[in-house]
Amino acid sequence: MKKSTEILQQYFGYDSFRLNQASAVENVIAKKDTFVLMPTGGGKSLCYQVPALVLDGTAIVISPLIALMKDQVDALRVNGISAAFLNSSMNPLEQNETFRQLKEDKLKLLYVAPEKLSADNGSFLNLLKEINISLFAVDEAHCVSHWGHDFRPDYLFLNGLKKEFPQTPIIALTASADEITRKDIIKQLNLQEPAVLISSFDRPNIKYFVQPKQSVLNHVVKYLNEHPNDSGIIYCLSRKGTEDLANNLKENGVNAAFYHAGISSTERAQVQDDFIKDKIRVMIATIAFGMGIDKSNVRFVMHADLPKNIESYYQETGRAGRDGLPSEAILFYSNADVMKLKKFAMVEGNEEQSSLMLRKLQQMTDFAEMQKCRRQYLMEYFGESHPGNCNSCDYCLSDFENWDATEDAQKLLSAVYRLKERYGKNLIIDFLRGSKGVKITDYMRNLPTYGIGANADKTYWQNLIKQLVINDFLRDSNEEFPVLKLTEASKDVLFGKREVNLQKVKEQAQAVTVAEIEISDPSDNIETNLELFDELRILRRQQAEQENVPPYVIFSDASLMELATYLPNTKEELEQISGFGAFKIEKYGEIFLNVILDFCNKNNLQSKIAEKTPRIKRAPKKINKYEAGTYTTTFQLYKEGNSVEEIANIRNMSLNTIQNHLANFVEVGTIKASELMDINKIDPIISIAKTQTILSLKAIKEELGEDYSYFEINVALAFYKWEEKEKNLK
Ligand code: ADP
Ligand code: ZN
Repeated sequence: MKKSTEILQQYFGYDSFRLNQASAVENVIAKKDTFVLMPTGGGKSLCYQVPALVLDGTAIVISPLIALMKDQVDALRVNGISAAFLNSSMNPLEQNETFRQLKEDKLKLLYVAPEKLSADNGSFLNLLKEINISLFAVDEAHCVSHWGHDFRPDYLFLNGLKKEFPQTPIIALTASADEITRKDIIKQLNLQEPAVLISSFDRPNIKYFVQPKQSVLNHVVKYLNEHPNDSGIIYCLSRKGTEDLANNLKENGVNAAFYHAGISSTERAQVQDDFIKDKIRVMIATIAFGMGIDKSNVRFVMHADLPKNIESYYQETGRAGRDGLPSEAILFYSNADVMKLKKFAMVEGNEEQSSLMLRKLQQMTDFAEMQKCRRQYLMEYFGESHPGNCNSCDYCLSDFENWDATEDAQKLLSAVYRLKERYGKNLIIDFLRGSKGVKITDYMRNLPTYGIGANADKTYWQNLIKQLVINDFLRDSNEEFPVLKLTEASKDVLFGKREVNLQKVKEQAQAVTVAEIEISDPSDNIETNLELFDELRILRRQQAEQENVPPYVIFSDASLMELATYLPNTKEELEQISGFGAFKIEKYGEIFLNVILDFCNKNNLQSKIAEKTPRIKRAPKKINKYEAGTYTTTFQLYKEGNSVEEIANIRNMSLNTIQNHLANFVEVGTIKASELMDINKIDPIISIAKTQTILSLKAIKEELGEDYSYFEINVALAFYKWEEKEKNLK
């Protein structure tokens, strides 16, 4: 039996498994039932594809997405793996051919649509009994559960699978997070003592930005000009919205198209195909677009209108960066959108439904408005803890300054107090600003606090209220007509016992200006030759057209980027490029090498493959100049002997941010962990981390107690990662 890592290298051209892939593969090969929860783009396919190649017989993959089936099979065939599919889009002749291959044991993988299983009283399953089956993979496994958002009756037929094939391992895979569905899947599929593998939902290669919804067209055009090689999706709420934006972009010279449920299905299939094949650069679409799109090199997803809830937002932004390269999610936010969506959310005659939708909308709004790390908010929403300071969202990339809000907070809190905690924010603000409106009674006008806030405008006070609520100085009663209430902390402020220190944005990070990126490798500064990258993409497209498959099936952007960076000159050197397995090197090596050699000759360049650290997965990273700058400044100050607190002061940044910068230097080995913490504390931290399925700093901290700070936990983890990397290098 071949080792799974050999298979991974030979057929897929990857050096190492991602987290949890390795365990999944190992379990299935040991014939154990396995449950895999991974976010979109996490790499679920390899979890069953590799075992399918290691084990004898044919793997049966059940997948509901007919559109994706062909893609998957194409991708496997391009890698030299014999695979086929069966679904209702095929004619009897084609189906019979597939049956023949199956019976002759010629297939390593067979993709099957669920309706095939139930058809003719399960005659297909009977047929399978005569065949050597290596494993069953149930993709999109949440479809088997009534609790999931996408229940499919055909999937119920899978209940009997285990009984009919007790010796064959079943691996169930989904990206649907919630716990009830998860348990139900295991029950419905009758999985026997399954290994349950749960991955984090974080997508570290996606940067999150929220921007005010103003001059959207200008922003988009500017962004596209600054990212001339990038392709992406822009979501709009209405059909008309997609058409308008697409037309406007076209007038600005952008290769764009629109997509919504109102255009004919042939036309839809056409634009979708063009987008996948890189013939259309920007797709402006309603949410109807995306299901069944597996384009791995979507570099950005924008929302021109506010999504209805976090689930949709996360799913849609998740379509960016499936190849693992840096990608961006940009939300254009306005309060007017919130109002519009509120109206949609009110479902006539269904109170329960309405209030659920309104609550979800509120969470979406909070995400956009909150002064908090966006990633942290998202992860916590999905039930994972995250320390914040991700350094790749607009909040974490912005510059803040501290601001003493004590005096204004006192004004505001005393207004709430004077009005006996009986009013909502609008009236409180009117009262503070000395409004002459009818809602302000004579009694109110005679109170001492009336009008003491006339110095600032309404938005200012609204923001202050928001921040005071976030920081627990004020509470919003969650009633039908919410009123502002005081908290313990507000009393301290009113009595002058406590100051209110808030932060305000000094310079807001925006996708358009901040994300000005330089493509290079961080450790050795080898440049990517963009001109060559373009030539390689053209070659890939031509090849894809000849074979009638999407370009990314042949090679991902990440692979081409490595070619354009390390300039391999021979087939042996190609082995070092991620995505180039033995089969693909044989098939495509020569034509790609020709283009590279040509380029090298013309520009007097040589192979830089020796500078590529072997056996470590490293798509050349894009470095954010802004980020690079801010890290280096912290590092310099640190080397000059300043303490963490001093650096935070000098830089006018939070302690957290500085600590985070320093931890990053530990991870790359520039700073020793022992300089920052007592190294005896490292082992206890790591041993707890190792027991977690999802890394949770909070849980580690809870277990270790007061003696351990978040900073120490962070540094210990960074140290551990560095150590692991070093081991791998040996
Ligand atoms: P999912 O089905 O979970 O959405 P996929 O299986 O389509 O994700 O994988 C997403 C992308 O990640 C694909 O382009 C795949 O080739 C790539 N990928 C998966 N596993 C690895 C790995 N171990 N090393 C490098 N790339 C990987
Ligand atoms: Zn962040």
